[in-house]
Amino acid sequence: MGSRWRNIWNEKLETLSSGELQELHERKFLKQLQYVFDSSLLYRKKYRNQGLSLADIKSLEDIAKLPFTEKNELREAQMEQPPVGIHRACPAEKLSRVYSSSGTTGMPTYIGLTANDIHNIQAEVIARFCWAGGIRPDSIVVNIPTAPFIADCFREGIEKTGATHMPTGFNTDRVLSAFQYQGADALHSTVSFFSYLLEETEKKGIDPKDLGLRTIVGGAEGGTGTIRPAIEKGFGATVVEGMGMGEMTCVVFGECVENRGRGMHYIGQGLVHVEIIDPENGNRVEIEEGASGELVYTALQSEAMPLLRYRSRDHVRVVSTEQCVCGRTGFRIEVMGRTDDMLTVLGVNVYPLAVRDVVSALKPRVSGEIEIQLDKPGPVVEPPLAIKVELGENPGEQGELKKLLETRIRETLVFRSRVELVAALPKYQYKRKLVNKLYE
Ligand SMILES: [Zn+2]
Repeated sequence: MGSRWRNIWNEKLETLSSGELQELHERKFLKQLQYVFDSSLLYRKKYRNQGLSLADIKSLEDIAKLPFTEKNELREAQMEQPPVGIHRACPAEKLSRVYSSSGTTGMPTYIGLTANDIHNIQAEVIARFCWAGGIRPDSIVVNIPTAPFIADCFREGIEKTGATHMPTGFNTDRVLSAFQYQGADALHSTVSFFSYLLEETEKKGIDPKDLGLRTIVGGAEGGTGTIRPAIEKGFGATVVEGMGMGEMTCVVFGECVENRGRGMHYIGQGLVHVEIIDPENGNRVEIEEGASGELVYTALQSEAMPLLRYRSRDHVRVVSTEQCVCGRTGFRIEVMGRTDDMLTVLGVNVYPLAVRDVVSALKPRVSGEIEIQLDKPGPVVEPPLAIKVELGENPGEQGELKKLLETRIRETLVFRSRVELVAALPKYQYKRKLVNKLYE
């Protein structure tokens, strides 16, 4: 990375000490809370029912007195007062956009944004993420759409950094042309698309390194760990991953180039306050190295739909709270999985991503891809857990490989599995499926 530009997009906020951050967030949280009490019908009703008044909340510490907000509350709320719902806190005419989130099942969740929300929250946090991933004003970034919400917000975030934005759509030839003939050198999409593009480039007889693609930012899947080396080596690029939540901001966490693979920095300073809770009892967990639990988000300056203590269902582990070599002070996390995806085998919690990591250690005998087979709804699963494992380039003797995988899984994750080796698992353009729900 050249020294022509500073190393951190928002140097002031991304390098705050924890004390300064608490102070800033307390001020912003109390202001946001006042706004919510004044303007959000959902929260006015919710807090009144709990006997909570504004006078009960005097500090950021008091946030623990507020009940959580759950996704299903938003689904109900959105039926009562379109557009968005009774959690909308701005007049309808102030809304600039309404997105529907990429819901997995059932009705989508609608997300409203004002112009301020778009430019000062979404674009700002994405600019921080893209910058941490190596995008600079002289970058030309191909932006492959995932969900409309993410694609649009990334356009604004990329442009905010000063970089050049090149939307191409999913057409592989058009993506390749951007690199071959237009000097594009950066890419935003999902991790699965990066592997897909690598394969397609090779199939066309083009050396992926000749594309000049040097900077890749993406995410939305969690755990690039296993696929990253192949993508980085293939293109000769760096890959960083980010994660967030549609109802809050596209990204709240993002890796830096310097320490990629060792956790994603919290980069939502001043925009989104983060807590970690024990999903079983809702108690707060201290953010310190090794701590794990579910992320809970609180908006700090949202106008359209400020959500307070919104449960993400994302289960994470804190990797470090030390200042990073890149200079950022935001703590770093790794994703363990969705609280909803968590399975329990004889009382042991199992995250599909953790299973994939154990299997991936046996590359190149395996490809690193797995698919857990569930014949009835979890989270409680009777052992052995059925897992399809995709064979790699050099599988070796298959009977022995199957036994080895089952042993490794039992030793590392403490549950019994039944591994089925398969030549190829179904391919998806983005969002790989780790759990196949046979009962659906
Ligand atoms: Zn860093």
